[in-house]
Amino acid sequence: MATNLFDLTGKTALITGSSRGLGRAFAEGLASAGASVILNGMNRERLDAAEQEMTQSGYHVEIAAFDVTDESEVKSAFAKFDKAGINIDILINNAGVQFRKPMVELETSDWHRVIDTNLTSAFVVGREAAKRMIERGYGKIINIGSLTSELARATVAPYTVAKGGIKMLTKAMAAEWGEHGIQANAIGPGYMLTDMNEALTSNPDFDAWVKSRTPARRWGKPEELAGTAIYLSSAASDYVNGQIIYADGGMISVL
Ligand code: NDP
Repeated sequence: MATNLFDLTGKTALITGSSRGLGRAFAEGLASAGASVILNGMNRERLDAAEQEMTQSGYHVEIAAFDVTDESEVKSAFAKFDKAGINIDILINNAGVQFRKPMVELETSDWHRVIDTNLTSAFVVGREAAKRMIERGYGKIINIGSLTSELARATVAPYTVAKGGIKMLTKAMAAEWGEHGIQANAIGPGYMLTDMNEALTSNPDFDAWVKSRTPARRWGKPEELAGTAIYLSSAASDYVNGQIIYADGGMISVL
């Protein structure tokens, strides 16, 4: 048995949407466990700042700026990895968007944007990563779900559908790629303190609702998800496949 089941030394991780928020926390967590990390996002300034800060902490960091909803950009990013001899051992499909609108007011283009960013991108980036992982007989894929992978909330219909899809995409990946040494699992975060939730954390009624519904009685901090990501990226989870782990302060377990 490996001396440190959680050691990621020698592994390379691509984390989509890691210029800020949960993705950034996943990148820091995996880097602290020894992985080289590739940051992704579309905002170059934010990516450069994240790379600089993480490099100053002594981590090995690179940037691959691309839009996860643009298939040609995804394919060209992977072609560049191939050319540079970079193997992606760990993929975290984290990039996501959310906005609130009643379904009767929702444009079809809004629907597609949310589904494309939160769900279709995980398939496209996952497929490109898996083609290479299958050749090498090794890979860890972590898809980021949500409490809405399990529960519906009003005004976030396409997000709920996308995150429900993430749960089943994860199982489909496990079913199809498990025999090739790939484990695909998902994390379902609860209500976390990130920019995505800015309008909610600053709304006293919503803030009170979250605290009253969460057994932990507080919002989650992004860095509190890092351990779950390290576990699912490491040898510690080699026989875990197709699961979604809710890291939500207990919220999904109570009515
Ligand atoms: P943020 O809005 O804080 O960050 C989103 C990240 O995704 C940014 O780095 C952004 O990069 C990137 N991104 C968005 N669209 C694209 C795109 N098309 N291509 C590449 N990168 C993109 O969100 P969070 O950190 O809060 O959320 C991260 C994930 O966690 C999402 O999937 C979200 O649904 C999920 N989640 C979040 C929860 C929360 O409470 N915060 C709860 C449950 C799940 P850039 O700005 O550079 O484009």
